[in-house]
Amino acid sequence: MANLKPNSAEARDVLFHLHSQTNPGRHAEVGPLIMARGEGVYVFDAQGKRYLEAMAGLWCTSLGFSNERLKAAAAAAYDKFGFYHSFNHKTPDVTIDLAEQLVAISPIPHAQAYFATSGSEATETMVKLAWVYHAARGHQAKRKIIARDRGFHGSTIVAASMCGLPRMHREYGLPLPGFLHTHCPDAYHGALPDETDEAFATRLADDLEAMIVAEGPDTIAAFIAEPINAGGGIVVPPQGYFAKIEAVLRRHDILVLADEVVCGFGRTGNWFGCQTVGMQPDMMALAKGLSSSYFPISAVLLGRPVRDALAEMNKAGELFGHGFTNSGHPVGAAVALETLRIYHEMDLVEHVRAMGTRLKTGLEAIANRSAIVGQVRGEGLMIGVELVADPATRAAFDPGLKVGARFDALALQNGLIIRAMGDTIGFCPPLIITAAEVDEILDLFARTLGQVETQVG
Ligand code: PLP
Repeated sequence: MANLKPNSAEARDVLFHLHSQTNPGRHAEVGPLIMARGEGVYVFDAQGKRYLEAMAGLWCTSLGFSNERLKAAAAAAYDKFGFYHSFNHKTPDVTIDLAEQLVAISPIPHAQAYFATSGSEATETMVKLAWVYHAARGHQAKRKIIARDRGFHGSTIVAASMCGLPRMHREYGLPLPGFLHTHCPDAYHGALPDETDEAFATRLADDLEAMIVAEGPDTIAAFIAEPINAGGGIVVPPQGYFAKIEAVLRRHDILVLADEVVCGFGRTGNWFGCQTVGMQPDMMALAKGLSSSYFPISAVLLGRPVRDALAEMNKAGELFGHGFTNSGHPVGAAVALETLRIYHEMDLVEHVRAMGTRLKTGLEAIANRSAIVGQVRGEGLMIGVELVADPATRAAFDPGLKVGARFDALALQNGLIIRAMGDTIGFCPPLIITAAEVDEILDLFARTLGQVETQVG
């Protein structure tokens, strides 16, 4: 147990607060890191130490930590009312404006927006809509969902079942029956020696089809994927992967669901990740960047076929039996609308491409001088650097060395917040980042990498 002063915020935290994605048994020993405030891309802890937040919190605060316009938008919305809902034909006016703005940028034609409050609720809503879609067309048995290894789709029971990360299943006896997983498109580790990207993608599509045929195509409702896996280690699929996968899915009348919770809103250098990787979804889940996480709001964009199915199912006058109290919350909608306005004004896509190129080429230059960087990968401002024992053979470090965790701790000491996913170091900084701040990330990364090399090289 760390020596925590009685009654200090740290001691009270250990006593009273159960943290997400934190080892409860080690929390007292590690000690809480209490953050006090933010300024642009920086956050400051309770002792006043400054950190460059190169993960935008949890892949979310695209506009940094202190945006005045979002604060003002929330205040103005609260001036009207603190809450109104979207049940029983009612809605706040601002929620309509947000839906219209989302539909205007949606890559799914003739879309409608459905609102919820978290990414998990959005991914789960897509599952229910996929079930409705097939049931309305007389295919009630089409219920199973295919997700992918190393995918992340949230923490509620269905969303966690769709995750392809053992830590999301272990304690809970998940996944639920009917939630299947196919391969992660990680060519760096998954491709056979001498296998081209094209051949690798074809093999994954063939394996997917074999799974569908073995399970029975009449039992499968949908396939869900992040355009670029975030929490699974920032995995960029090989060129042409989604075209091959989607050809299989369309052949078997299986819906394509995009989880854009991280990739949406400019992160990968296009408005949506599906545009970066050539994915053509039937529905997509949005959250995080939708409001720069200044308010908990998420959305599902659904296309015409799903809308028609919903109308068909409910044509005798039943309700669409789904909804969260805070769906389409007026304050969240106002904050999201202002977020979108800022994105348009800042020329989001061009800015992310320029800063992303600067970050990636800078990381590659540092990697070229290092003996422990295996791969620098990513698109836009979502980049992963994988550390390996031997870049020539791609051999991983001995897990006992905890290289990623070591990097994370040293980076923190150096005033840099990254995300270690195994031995992959993730960068997902606020999209407002400037060239000087990108260069600061590069300096801090190089310094930390040097320290890690000294310890494990
Ligand atoms: N989908 C992806 C890709 C995510 O990264 C996350 C959260 O990190 C979620 C879904 C779940 O979002 P939430 O934590 O808001 O439920």
